[in-house]
Amino acid sequence: MRYTTQFLLSALSAAQFPPVALPEVAFLGRSNVGKSSLLNALVGEKAAKVSSTPGRTRAINFFKLLDDRQRPAMTFADLPGYGYAKISKSISAEWPKFIEPYLIGRENLRLCVCLIDSNIEARPSDSQLFDWLRSQGRDFQVVATKIDRLSGNQRTHNLAALKKAHELDEILGVSAKTGYGIKELWGKIEEAGSGE
Ligand code: GDP
Repeated sequence: MRYTTQFLLSALSAAQFPPVALPEVAFLGRSNVGKSSLLNALVGEKAAKVSSTPGRTRAINFFKLLDDRQRPAMTFADLPGYGYAKISKSISAEWPKFIEPYLIGRENLRLCVCLIDSNIEARPSDSQLFDWLRSQGRDFQVVATKIDRLSGNQRTHNLAALKKAHELDEILGVSAKTGYGIKELWGKIEEAGSGE
């Protein structure tokens, strides 16, 4: 399916979140992990640009996806990039206060796409985020970015190591640069979006 993407709004507080009318998929990742590039590969440059506009990098940026008949199909929520050194009980002091309530309470949130860098060893703080999402009963799909930088052997090795360290059943290797894994990721997103 080809989607058209419309920017909805940038929210800096829970009061500004759009209505929960459509199934929603959220994108989470540390700054520089390749989130803008991945969004660009998924839905086009406009969305990625909006999210990296100064002033909007601390916001949750919401986008509406229209299907090929221009019917609203789902929303994407691009969460601010973090450098979450301190995720613990309450995710992180650095993370704006409205992120945690968003992740806990957002009724139409079907899937969190969590980005980690395939070239970097597992970080305990990422594990903490995944544990926290599990404790909240949130479905999430971990995606390992910039996979094009690795040779075939390294890919297999790094993905296996990340999977083990983070105790995950599956990690999807993706590259915004070559398009590797993008179709598979769309499959996961559409599956989540079309669920009950
Ligand atoms: P963000 O801060 O998470 O939005 O990250 P960006 O999308 O801005 O990417 C951070 C850096 O990683 C930039 O220099 C990108 O060119 C690079 N990058 C992002 N995705 C890829 C990828 O799939 N492959 C490669 N080789 N580099 C990437």
